[in-house]
Order: sequence, then structure tokens, then C-alpha cells
Amino acid sequence: MRDNEWLYRGRLGRFVDELVTPNLYAETRQLELRAWPVPGEPVPFAEAIDQEFAPFTPGTPWGRGWSTLWLHVTGSVPDDWRDTTYEIVVDLGFSPRPDGGHGAQAEALAFRPDGSILKAIEPFNRYLPVEHPDAIDLYLEAAANPDVGIGGAWHPSPFSSLDTVPDQELYVLRHVDLARRNVEVWELNEDIEVLAGLVEELPANLPRRAEIVVALNAAMDALDPRDVAGTATDARAALAGVLARPANASAHRVLATGHAHIDSAWLWPVRETVRKCARTFANVIALTEEHPDLVFSCSSAQQYAWIKQYYPELWQRLKQKVAEGRFVPVGGMWVESDTNMPGSEAMARQFIHGKGFFLREFGYEPTDVWLPDSFGYSGALPQIATAAGSQYFLTQKMSWNETNVLPHHTFWWEGIDGTRIFTHLPPVDTYNSRLAAFELAKAERQYSEQGHGTISLVPFGYGDGGGGPTREMVAKAHRTADLEGSPAVRIGTAAEFFEAASAELPNPGTWSGEMYLETHRGTYTSQLRTKQGNRRSEHLLRAAELWATTASVRAGLAYPAEELRGVWETVLLQQFHDILPGSSIAWVHREAEANYARVAGVLEGIIDRSLAALTGAGDEVLAVNSSPVTLEGITPFTIGPAIAAASGVTVEAAGDGWVIDTGALRVVVDGDGLLPSVVHLPTGRELVAEGRRFGLLQVHNDRPSMYEAWDIDAHIGRVVEDLEKADSVRLVTTGPRVAEIETVHSIGDSTITTLLRFSAGSAAIDLDLDIDWHEQRRLLKLAFPTSIFTDRATSEIQFGHIARPTYTNTTWDVARYETCAHRWVQVAEPGFGFAVANDSTYGHDIRRDHPGGSAPGTTVRLSLIRGPMFPDPETDQGRHQLRVSAVCGADIGTAIAAGQRLNQPVREVHGARSVSPIITSEVPGVLVEAVKRAEDGSGDVVVRLYESLGSRATGVIRPGFGYAGVERTDLLERHTGDASTTDGAVALSVRPFEIVTLRFAAVRRD
Ligand SMILES: [Zn+2]
Repeated sequence: MRDNEWLYRGRLGRFVDELVTPNLYAETRQLELRAWPVPGEPVPFAEAIDQEFAPFTPGTPWGRGWSTLWLHVTGSVPDDWRDTTYEIVVDLGFSPRPDGGHGAQAEALAFRPDGSILKAIEPFNRYLPVEHPDAIDLYLEAAANPDVGIGGAWHPSPFSSLDTVPDQELYVLRHVDLARRNVEVWELNEDIEVLAGLVEELPANLPRRAEIVVALNAAMDALDPRDVAGTATDARAALAGVLARPANASAHRVLATGHAHIDSAWLWPVRETVRKCARTFANVIALTEEHPDLVFSCSSAQQYAWIKQYYPELWQRLKQKVAEGRFVPVGGMWVESDTNMPGSEAMARQFIHGKGFFLREFGYEPTDVWLPDSFGYSGALPQIATAAGSQYFLTQKMSWNETNVLPHHTFWWEGIDGTRIFTHLPPVDTYNSRLAAFELAKAERQYSEQGHGTISLVPFGYGDGGGGPTREMVAKAHRTADLEGSPAVRIGTAAEFFEAASAELPNPGTWSGEMYLETHRGTYTSQLRTKQGNRRSEHLLRAAELWATTASVRAGLAYPAEELRGVWETVLLQQFHDILPGSSIAWVHREAEANYARVAGVLEGIIDRSLAALTGAGDEVLAVNSSPVTLEGITPFTIGPAIAAASGVTVEAAGDGWVIDTGALRVVVDGDGLLPSVVHLPTGRELVAEGRRFGLLQVHNDRPSMYEAWDIDAHIGRVVEDLEKADSVRLVTTGPRVAEIETVHSIGDSTITTLLRFSAGSAAIDLDLDIDWHEQRRLLKLAFPTSIFTDRATSEIQFGHIARPTYTNTTWDVARYETCAHRWVQVAEPGFGFAVANDSTYGHDIRRDHPGGSAPGTTVRLSLIRGPMFPDPETDQGRHQLRVSAVCGADIGTAIAAGQRLNQPVREVHGARSVSPIITSEVPGVLVEAVKRAEDGSGDVVVRLYESLGSRATGVIRPGFGYAGVERTDLLERHTGDASTTDGAVALSVRPFEIVTLRFAAVRRD
């Protein structure tokens, strides 16, 4: 007769709770404690230990939110314990929540008296080794990190900002004890967890399942409840047989790699991430000492750089572990950034700065891209990653899709230019695995390449301040290495995984284009100031590098390499996947805004110095074009006399509004400040869909089901309030060069003032929006219902653009209801298009529309601002300025130029002379994205270009400076090929959306 599973399960639950868990430690002794609460922000170890420490007893509350308490721990191990196994066990007052919340609780880092770091204390990792039994002497830096998400409820939290933290203590310190370990009971517990977990995953009638149940019953029989420690070995013996059964020959293989996904800021400020990294990395280094097979995969050069800067002693040991191959850099990026919003050059710099750091510090270059948690993946990434020298790509976030399931786990991912990168989505669907049986079984069950491939990756370890991998996880890996019924687990590196997977699946399936994440669609819009700061910084960086390079080449000005590096590192950090997306607490976003302001000052200083050196002192008004397209008649990268704007705008009163004629457009502005008619005069084409009006502001209730700052839910589309009536409309300026009409609309406590600008000869309508926003949980959109009939919309992404369907045939189309674009979007019928450019934000929706049942058109909407209340209760409140331009008759080239005009406008300086461009592209559609000095300080000039139209093109690139030689390089400025030249110009032949980096060797003057 089979053993009754229902009774077994009940018996085992009690057995573990009543006999095993309580006997993990034999006895405990309280250690001596003295404490010093830090009055403000954290201080370094050396400063802390000089303070006055007062006696402290367990049971005492401590820790106002975000505060720090230093504990001095002393004592000695009793003589009669010396031959046993003992350690220090700390409970800072951890929440009993068994899962989750590991990054949202108190944590501590243990220092020796000399300031060296021992290990950390985390909710699921509470022990410290005893190094000196006669004289225990340690300092614990305990951080009272609050649970901002309030146990997953995620309501507006007072812990979002230091200014609103309640004056109350969050934790009660339970104990800091010396404890004698029953190691054999701990091992028994691990045996039971592995086998009992496996039982639940095996098919009901499998003999293997019954066999394990019988063995577990026998183990419970063998343990004497009156002598648990003394009989644990007998219980383990009863399990030895079932644990020794080898894995099935066809078992799925799991390459498990130690990991800790530490968000570089999120529900805590950046300063706490620095400490979280120190704690987790200290744990990892300690654990590698105990387990010779443990390897830890760690991304984000920024996090290594923090350790180098703030924890030099830990840094030396970390470097040693990297050299031994135990602590393995992965990803090769500065941070695990968002990939939807960073601009072209910034996305490249994530790799240039990330890999540059790893190569400089370790002589090591990761070959994979490691982005398990970013919110969707740009179709430009395969080319960017490959151009940075990476071969593999990893994420698991696509498992968060609300609607559709990607058909592959191991596949080629093909970008907009056709570049393919070997990609893996771990079928375990997590980057925080505990190597529990249910997770391993899930990896095997879900793996899409079953039958073709045999291996998947499982990153294991607590992230976000949970402390990384634990000894319990390592124990599980060892027990499942070769165990019947379980996938076969081996600990290793991500590189080992990718080599094995690509060897067994040389020709997997292909996913083409972006990996659009079917959730978190609000992240293109939330925290408008952060987004504007990023956009402004990216463009100031381009201008600063361009003019600093030009000034260094032409005027001998020193190139500010270190200043630029510092700025880039700030901007790159703030592209982290919870900062730029707007999903961090108030503290993080206010700090980010301050950083952007500081960065702007530094960059404006570089630009001013460079331009002054180039133009000399003088009174002539000169126009400076920092963009790669001709603006206001000034060719790219040229400084020259300003060219007078055209004249010829006429304004006629018509009813309660006006008719404005720019020569290129005839526009009706009505008494509501809206545009019922926009006629493109060269073609006679009416742009506005019949019965609709351009410039309509629309407000949606915006209360997502779950993640407020992250999500815009589909249901918002069902309720909309149109701001049809203006509070006021007035003609501000009339011709001859420009006509301007100011409109004021209001909703709730908020007002939106729009200056509509019409310029002579221009087919663009500019909208300067001044939004005083006091709405919460509402989304403001700006609509352009066009008469254009098309099945796809084009959006700018990095180094090119992407086409997305405007219809909703499939569930994939339906789910793509809010999309990301950089500076412009465009819709077109053959030969005639319409573009909307912006200078501030990223969220759009562009859909087929049937106004009034008449001729179908396409409505283009820009998401301007939201007001989610979690994690920042004050998100988006206050004054904001945005610029939008609606361009009629716009092809892709015109759309690109409109984006440049808003984001990199021509600036004016006073000087004595004009300046010719340092570089000129004479290849149709090929734009210069960056001009800079080489990263290695050699003085070489690096020029990055890309084909922007999606065409093949041939021509020359003409440098405006002398050089000793030129070569093509990868993003890291390493030789990839020769460049042919004629009369100093570089011949170039490019494929659609190809990125080209040219490196011009400096002429040596010695
Ligand atoms: Zn994350």
C-alpha cells in the first residue's frame, strides 16, 4: 500500500516547524552591546567608532526611517564551546514575511576594529563568523531602511522623502547572540527542503514520487524528538538513498549563477545603494571562501566604482575574486539602464563606460549584455551591443508581459538593421531564484526549446539588499546536481551558459525588432522633470564634446576629458531602469533633478569656453549649429553669421478665431484655441481629419491596477475628458516673420497655457506648452487627429527608427497601445507625411481612427504628463515647460530635422570669426551622432555616424582637420577595419541604419 500523501504532508510540516527549525541552534548567549545612533546621514567607519557608544539591550526599539545605528559588539566564546561549531546570530527586528521584502528591511554591515569588513546581516542571512573566540570585537552599521512599499500595498508612503519621514522607530532589536550550531540538523533541513519540494513537482503516479515520500516518512521515524541533534544523522541516512539517485539522462540542465539584482536606486536613495552593494558583495566574498564552486555574476560598472571609491579594503578583495574568476563582471554596461529612452550616443556610452571600467580595472571584458529587469528592449540594441563587442544578450523581463508570451527562450534577436545577437530569457522567470524545487521545475517545464536544446540559465540570490546567494542556496545546488526527477544543476558563469547554449543550438529561432514589454507603459511619461533632464543633458553633452573637440583641434584648447567623463557617469547612472523611467521615490528624483542642473552648468561652461576660443573676442552675432542637420540656413557644426528669417505670415480674423497663412500652411485657429483645418499649401492637402481639431488636450483618469508610476492600463482609453473650451484665446504676435496665439485651458486645479507659433515659410506649427500641473492620477495627452491613412507609424529610436502597426489585428497589436519614441514620430501615405516632434518626453499612442464613421485616418497623441502617487506621492506636480512641433508634409528627413531643431536649437554667440565644420557628411542620410576625443587620451578624434533613413548610401565623410590616419573601430574605439580615403575624405558605403565609428589618428608634433 502506498503511503498516504495527505498525512505525510501534514506530518512533515509539523516535523520541520516543531523539531527541525527550533534545533538549528543548540544554545545561545547574549553578547555585550553598546550603541551610537547617527544623528543625520551615514558617516564612515572611522568617524563612527570615535563617537560615544552607550549600553544597549535587546528588546530596545531603534531606527527612525532611513537612520543608521552603530552597534559595538563584544564578548568571548565559553571554554566548553571551543570544540563545537558556533557563530554570531543577529536579528535586527526583521519582518516575519517569508518571501519578498528582502530589500525593504533593516540591514547591517559588520566591521572589524581595524575597519576591514567581515560580512553583512540581512533578513535571510543573519550570521557572522567568529574569528577571535577570546575577544569578539565587532562594529555593526545597522541601516533602518523602511518598507516603502508597505508590504506590497504600495500606497503613497511618507518614506518617499527624508522630509516626510515619521518621527518613530521602525525596528526592535531582538538579539545579537553567540550561538552553537547543530550543523547536522541544518543539513537535514536542506535534504528535506530539496526532497519535499521535488515531491510537489513530480507527476502523481510516478514511482519516484512515492519513493521519496516513503523515505521522508522513514527519516521522520528515525529522528528522536528528545535528541534531535543526536539523531539527525540517522534521519539523514534514511534520505541518503533517494538523494543518491542520478538524474534522468534527458533531464533539463540548469546553469545556476550566483547573483544579486541590486537596483541602483528605487525605493531607496542612491546613497543606500552604495551601502547595499558593500553588504551584498561582502557576503558574496565570504561565501566564496566557504564554497570553492560558487561563482557570482555581477553587472553594473557603477556599483564596482562605488566600492572602489567608498570601501577600498573590500575593493582589494573584490579585485582578487575577479582575478580568480569567482566574482564575474557581466553585462558590460555602466548600469542596467532603461533601453527605451536613452538617446543613441548615451546607449552606446553605457557600454563604452561600462566595458571601459571593467577593462581598466580588471583587464576583463564581459561578452554578454545583462538586463534582466529593464522595461522592454529597443530594436537598436542588437547592433549597439554587437558594436560594443558583445555576443550574447540576457533578460527575463519579457515574462512580465500581460498579454502575450514570447515564443522563444533561446533565440536570435534581430535589430532594426538586421544585426542578430544570441539571446536567452531564463525560463525560470526570475532573477532572484532560491534554487527551490518549484523554480527548477518551472525552468524545465517552460523552456521553449525543449527537444532542441537542453540548458537554461538560473540566476540565484536575494537582490536589493537581501544579500545575494546564501549557504542554503548553495546546499540546494549541490543536492540537485544529479538528482532523479530534478533538472541537473551546475553552478557556473553566464559565459559558460552562453557557450553551451550556442553550441547546442547554433541556429535557433529569430525574434525581429523591439522586445516591447506589455506592461510598465507609464514609464515613458512619469517624472517629466527627470525625463527633461536626461534629454537636455544628452544634447548638451553632444554640443560640449563637439565644440571642445573642435576647439582643441583648431585652437589648442585642452580637452576636458575628466569633466566630460564625470558628467557622462552621472547621466548614465540616472538612466538606470528605475530612475529615467520615473519609478523611484521622491528622494531619488529630486536628487536626479539637482544633478541634471549641476551637469547643465558644467556643460554650458565647456561650451562657452570652447566657442569663445573658436570665435575669438568680437561683436559679430554668430549662429552656432551643434546639430547634424542644417538649421536656420546654417550647415551642421558651423558657426557663422545668422541668416535672417523669412517674412510673409498673414493673419486674418475669421469668426471668433483666425486664419493664418505662412506660405506653406493655411491654418484655422478657432475660438477654442484648436485647429479645425490645416492645409499644406504646396499640395493642397487637408491634414486634419474631418470633424476633428488639432491640438486637443485630453485627460484620462489614470489609476493603474498595480504599479502606479510604471503602468498606464488599457482601461484609461474608455474614459476621456476633452478640453474643448479654452479659458482664453488671444493673438499675441502678428507677422511678418511669426504669428503667435496664446490659449489657456484648465482642468481641475491645473492650467495649460499653449503658445501656438506659425513662422513664415514654415510647414511646422510649434506649440510651447506651459503646464501648471496639480492633478494626481490623471494623464494629459495632446492629440493630432490626422487625415493620413497608413498601417504603420514610425518612431525615432537609437540610431534609426522603428515602424509599428496602427491597427489592432492581433493581441500583440492590441497590447502595444502606448509606445516609446525619442524626438519625433511620423505617419505617412506614399509621398506625404506628418510628424510630431518634442523636446521633453517619450510616451505616444498612434492609432487608426474613424472619425464620425467617415474616411479613416490616424490619430497621433503625445502623453505629456501624469501624476502617479507611488513611489513618489508628488510626482509631476508644479510648473513644466515643453515644446512640441507638428510638421506637415514631413518625410523622415524632415522629422529628424524637426527633432533636432527642438532639442539642439541654434545658439547665438558674439565673436570675431566664423568657424567651419570639423566634420561634414556627404553621404545621403548619414548623420554625425558624436564627435569626441578618444577615450584613451591619445588625442585621436572619434566620429560616430549612422544611416538615419533606412537606406543604402555611398559618399564621403570630409574632416575639417589634418590627421595622420583613419580607421573604422568598434564602440570601444578598437580597430575593426581600414577606411579608404581620397584627398583626405573618407569613402563610406553604408547599409540601412548602420552605425560607423571612425577614428582619426592625431598628427604627432614632437
Ligand atoms: Zn530592477
